[in-house]
This record gives sequence, C-alpha cells and structure tokens, in this order.
Amino acid sequence: MTRLALIALDGPSGVGKSTTAKRVAQQLGWDYLDTGAMYRAAALALRRAGIDLDDRPGLERVLAGLRIQQRGIREFLGDEDVSEAIRTPEITRMVTPVSADARVREVLVDQQRRIGGQGGWVVDGRDIGTVVFPDACCKIFLTASVEARAGRRFKELRDKGVPLPLAEVAADLQRRDLADSTRAVSPLCKAADAVELDSSGMALAEVVDWIVGRHRAHPK
Ligand code: C5P
Repeated sequence: MTRLALIALDGPSGVGKSTTAKRVAQQLGWDYLDTGAMYRAAALALRRAGIDLDDRPGLERVLAGLRIQQRGIREFLGDEDVSEAIRTPEITRMVTPVSADARVREVLVDQQRRIGGQGGWVVDGRDIGTVVFPDACCKIFLTASVEARAGRRFKELRDKGVPLPLAEVAADLQRRDLADSTRAVSPLCKAADAVELDSSGMALAEVVDWIVGRHRAHPK
C-alpha cells in the first residue's frame, strides 16, 4: 500500500490531542485538522436548526447545507466564527450522539478525506487511523490515565474562568470514553498498525518531540 504523508493522531477525550497536533504540525511545517471541531460544528448547526437525529428529512436538509471550514485554528460554520460556540458544555453533551450517527459521519469523513487527501496534514480525532486515513504513514494512539486527563482539563477550565469540580470533569471524560468506544459506527480504537503512547507522566513538549522523532525515523 502506498502510504500517505499524514499523521493520524487518535485517542480519548482530554488527552491533549489538539494542542499536541498543532505543535507537531508547526514543527513539520504541515497543516493541522481538528476533526472533533467539525463534529461539534455539526452539532451546533443541528441545535440551531432545532433538528434532532430522529427527524430524517430535517437532518438530511441540515447535512446538505452544512458548510464547515477550518481557517487556521478557527472553526467556521458558513461565514461565522463558531470557535467558542462549539465548546460550550451543551454542545459537548450534544456532540456524543451526533458523532455516533452514521449519516453525519459519512458527510464529515468525506470532507476530511478531501481536505487531507494530498498529505501534509496532522489530523486529530477518534477514527483517523482506522477509518478516515487507513493509509496514513504515521499513526499515533495517544492515551493517558483518567486521573491525568481530568487533572489537565480541570486546570484548563479553571484558567479559563469556568471552574468545575474535579470529580465532575473526570465523570464527563469517562462518559465520553465509554460512548466513543462502544458506539456501533467508527468506535474509538487503536488501529492495528498504530503506536500507542501513554502520556500520563509526560510534559507536552516531550510528547511533541516523541511524535516528531517517530515520524522522522519512519517517514513512510
Ligand atoms: O475532540 P473533541 O473532544 O473536540 O471531539 C468532540 C466529539 O466528537 C468527541 O467526544 C467524539 O465523540 C467526536 N469525534 C468523533 N470522531 C472524530 C473526532 C471527534 O466521533 N474523528
């Protein structure tokens, strides 16, 4: 199989995939695609249209008109910058069933392949190495213990001025882990040819260096 020059970075929620992926892309001079943001934007579009997943014609209409675009690190729905609107707790709850829907995934996976298909991208998500780009030359499955992930997310939220109890942050991560890894369509799982990196005791810079080093050592 000819390998695509693309880094697939998959793993559970709160493991630091987006920050890591952004920095890896910067170091390699590549582009970065946040597929989680695309599912969040789709959830926001459905929410705004007042459509739920049981409304088949409504869902099809919203999906047909969906214009999601990442410009730099900002996410756009049509011409509107929705980077903040897609990160609210409400959208974080809604995105779980939305991203488990096969019709939504078909549309977004197709867009992701069109964006990254020429290579030169670092793409983060849940199914990038397994489904979206099975031919990616470098597949990383990034993990960390629930305690480590909850601790990082807790600090992030506190620094943003939206503190939540640590137990609540951990419970939310576990809820999303379970939903993402047990859903019928494209569940979160490590591709057979991915390398797993447990980042629990590692600083961000170490994780980035490890991935860049691995990619340079095995470019194809
Ligand atoms: O990465 P982030 O947490 O922003 O992703 C939001 C949600 O989108 C995840 O909880 C997951 O359910 C879903 N997702 C997915 N497949 C991807 C990326 C994200 O199902 N490739």
